[in-house]
Amino acid sequence: MINILFSARAAQWPVYRAPLETAFAEKGLEFTLTDHTDSPETIDYLVYAPAREDDDLSVYSNLKLIQSLWAGPDKLLKNKTLTQPMARMVDPGMTQGMADYVFGHIMRHHLEVDRFTNAKPGDWLMDWAPPLPAERTVAILGIGALGMACAKVAHDYGFNVIGWSRTQKDDAPFACYAGAEGLEKALREADIIVTLLPNTPATEKVINEKTIAQMKDGAALINPGRGQLIDDDAFLAALNSGKISGATLDVFHTEPLPAEHPYWHHPNVLVTPHVASETRVDTAARVVAENIARVEKGQNALHLIDPALKY
Ligand code: NAP
Repeated sequence: MINILFSARAAQWPVYRAPLETAFAEKGLEFTLTDHTDSPETIDYLVYAPAREDDDLSVYSNLKLIQSLWAGPDKLLKNKTLTQPMARMVDPGMTQGMADYVFGHIMRHHLEVDRFTNAKPGDWLMDWAPPLPAERTVAILGIGALGMACAKVAHDYGFNVIGWSRTQKDDAPFACYAGAEGLEKALREADIIVTLLPNTPATEKVINEKTIAQMKDGAALINPGRGQLIDDDAFLAALNSGKISGATLDVFHTEPLPAEHPYWHHPNVLVTPHVASETRVDTAARVVAENIARVEKGQNALHLIDPALKY
């Protein structure tokens, strides 16, 4: 019998309980599942989306795995009491949702929709047609679980896609670059840039004055990754000068984004409130069950967060 603790906002417990029980049963696990315990040392697995950042995780002294319900590891890694292995969420439902969001906004920038939403009544702007997708280059910075799915959708549709990641990828159906030189190459070629990197010391302000200068004039940027990826002052200057033609921003240094922030007021910026994609309960429950079943069989958990790399 394994003991599983669900630790998240109280409102999530009734939503997750039955799908998790079903998924655990489908995997043949013998389990107890609860949302509270007086004996944390008896807990084998934590299903985790912390309601607070200062949970004392050291009380779970016999934990085999923390399975996060979040894709982003940054907030979780701030917890100084974390010593146990932790897996981030890679959920097919969340991945599909992210591909929807990113492709939708690639199309917004590709079709230059702002041209028309910012037009004055009577402006009949008919002397313009967008280039074809094959004539547009989309660079996806971060081609992990989410970025790779978005890149494949854009590639299958016909865009010229470039991926950029920390380690070189050789098996993608489109060009992939790595390292600082690779980033510069991707930025110089891209018309539309998507940032789907995790927030780590190595990715902080990857979009800065220097890398913006490497971009094509008039490039557009979509950021569903993390606000910390962008140096806001440099980015706003580039929006104001027209170096960057437009942006779709979902994540910010401060959330909720304060009403007075210039991003809300810029005519070429669309702010979305950290809704690019979220964990979907049914698919995520099956991912949790699969990972616990793997550990019970003595296999490594999938999608473990590397404490050194911070993702
Ligand atoms: P992932 O699978 O860990 O992929 C991360 C990608 O970033 C990998 O390709 C990785 O390279 C690359 N990377 C990491 N550090 C790098 C560096 N220093 N230089 C170049 N590339 C680097 O993560 P994911 O599941 O795709 O999620 C990505 C991020 O999306 C999350 O961390 C989170 O911040 C964000 N997110 C946002 C929302 C939202 O609603 N807005 C929802 C979910 C997730 P390698 O392949 O070489 O390891």
